[in-house]
Amino acid sequence: MKLEPTELYTKCKTVKEKDYKEVFAYGLAISQWIKTKKAYAVAANQLGSKYRLMVAHRRYKKLGLPTDIFINPEFSIGPEAERIIWGESCLSYPGVQFEILRWSHVELSYYDPREKEDKKYFLEGLPAIIAQHEITHLNGENEEELSFSVEVAALMEKKNIKIEEARQIIIKEEGK
Ligand SMILES: [Zn+2]
Repeated sequence: MKLEPTELYTKCKTVKEKDYKEVFAYGLAISQWIKTKKAYAVAANQLGSKYRLMVAHRRYKKLGLPTDIFINPEFSIGPEAERIIWGESCLSYPGVQFEILRWSHVELSYYDPREKEDKKYFLEGLPAIIAQHEITHLNGENEEELSFSVEVAALMEKKNIKIEEARQIIIKEEGK
C-alpha cells in the first residue's frame, strides 16, 4: 500500500539555519490546520513538504510535549528505555490501526523557533510515542509500520490470542 504524497517515502533533510524563519511560518500554518483534526501531531512530509518539521496539536501541553513546533526533530533512545508495542493511528492511513515497536523512553532534540534555540527533552509514554511516530515519517519509513501491523494480526489469528499476548510474544522475539 503506497499513499501520496511521495514525500512521505523520502527522508527529510535537516533544515538549514537560513531557512528557520520560513519553516517556522509554515509550521504556524500547519498548527492552524491541525487544530481541526483528530491527531496529536503531523510530520510536514505528510502534507507534501520536504522540511524536517513536526507540528503538534494545540493540546501539546496536555499531551506532555514541550512545545508545538519542532524543527529538525531527532530522537535517541532514553537511558531507561524498553521495547514496547503501541497501537497507533495515522492521518495518512485513515481508519487503520498499527501495532508498532517503539521505545518507552526517548530523548528528543530539536530547534525551537519560538525560543530560537536548540533543545533536548526527555519523553516517556504517549509523548515519546508521538515523537517517534512523526520522526519515523520524517525519515521516510512507513512500510515498516505496516508490516509490523500485519505481523501482529497474523500472530493473533494463528494462535487465536488477544492483541496484548501477541505484543508480548513479538517483544520477546525481538529481544533475542
Ligand atoms: Zn502518522
